[in-house]
Amino acid sequence: MFRTARRSKARLVLAAALAAGMAWTLQAVTATTAQSQVANVAASATPSASYTSSWETVSAINDGIDPPQSNDTQNPRWGTWPEEGTQWAQLSWDEPVTVASSDMYFFDDTGDGGPGGVRVPASWSIEYLSGGSWQPVSGGGYGTATDQYNSVSFGEVTTTALRAVLQSGQGSVGVLEWKVYGEGDNGEPSGWNPPSHLVQPLEEVWAHTEDTYGGGQGPLAFHNYGWDQIMDTGGKVNYCVRWDSQNSVDASTRDAIEAKLQEQYDLWFDQMAGWDGFPFDRIEVEVVGWAAYDRDLLQWQDDSVDVYIGDIREDAPQCAEDCGRFFHQDGNYPDCPGGYDHHYDQSLWLTQGMGGGAGGDWGQRMGQEYFVDSLGASQVTIYLHEVGHTFGLDDFYDWTPTGQCCFIMNAGSSSTITEFDEWMLRDWWRHLKSRYGL
Ligand SMILES: [Zn+2]
Repeated sequence: MFRTARRSKARLVLAAALAAGMAWTLQAVTATTAQSQVANVAASATPSASYTSSWETVSAINDGIDPPQSNDTQNPRWGTWPEEGTQWAQLSWDEPVTVASSDMYFFDDTGDGGPGGVRVPASWSIEYLSGGSWQPVSGGGYGTATDQYNSVSFGEVTTTALRAVLQSGQGSVGVLEWKVYGEGDNGEPSGWNPPSHLVQPLEEVWAHTEDTYGGGQGPLAFHNYGWDQIMDTGGKVNYCVRWDSQNSVDASTRDAIEAKLQEQYDLWFDQMAGWDGFPFDRIEVEVVGWAAYDRDLLQWQDDSVDVYIGDIREDAPQCAEDCGRFFHQDGNYPDCPGGYDHHYDQSLWLTQGMGGGAGGDWGQRMGQEYFVDSLGASQVTIYLHEVGHTFGLDDFYDWTPTGQCCFIMNAGSSSTITEFDEWMLRDWWRHLKSRYGL
């Protein structure tokens, strides 16, 4: 619900959230897994072609420029005029890539008043280099529409080169931009290459973030995002559970909560592994402490977690401030009993009877019953939304980005993390990573 962008404001914002009564609720949780995302790897390829008109350039096909229209008179183009028949454009990589889909934007100068000699092909297909020979990819649906990308999905191939083979129709052929989606052989797509339909809305989101959290360095001035925390810890998040409830909780539920937190973190961060310099294969989540009103509410006797009783802050139990990241943003905990391993980066604050939620650098808050009742669900919607805030993602109370209606950070519109949510997370990493020397 509310994010707390700066430490000095955090408690005020939280108080406001409490006063507002956490008025919104979310739809029922449904079982869907997040899809992994890949990038346009064409940017790292070397282009070549069967023939290129002397006034055109083959490097146009992967220069990253989205054409305004098929008759593009502004940007570099690849065309074969006056050659006709079978022509091809090729992308070659130094290291193998694994690819399974493509977006093709054809050059067609119909109505140009000029030569008028370049038209969409009569037909075309994609081939990949395999053992020194060209093989067709499986799949089909090779569109030839003008003024848009023609998308093709095909059976995944790992190769060092792809060819688009074009059979000319009413003229010579040409391509303005060819995107190919996949991963490098190390599973590390490089560069910033979101799917074309997400480029504009992602730009809008970042611009809006800068406007909203403007001044000085804007959102980059804050230094306690979840990103800062995991970079300090080496890819781990320690939790304190604030059991703000008079209900009792047993050891199996305690352990199920920790497992659920790990599972939900994975839903956000599986896509980040190896992406754009992100250094962690997985964010490890561990619950190190529990805070409660009364020891009897915690129905276990083992000492697997630290227990804090009767330390009441913000009218709720809290683990020791000496161990909390919110209170020690330098990442040092000299007075934490038990030392560094007992510190907590975030709190999972579970409040009896609460609807909705709140999230920020301090952690996430939602209903105690809601979270426990969600332990059997694959996606804990409110929690996932609030974790988004912990990593900088904003709310969308009064606007939506172009073409995007439904995603988990637009509260109430999606019960699951979507492709757009994933790219917003990646965009935060893209903007922040330089502060870590990456
Ligand atoms: Zn929110």
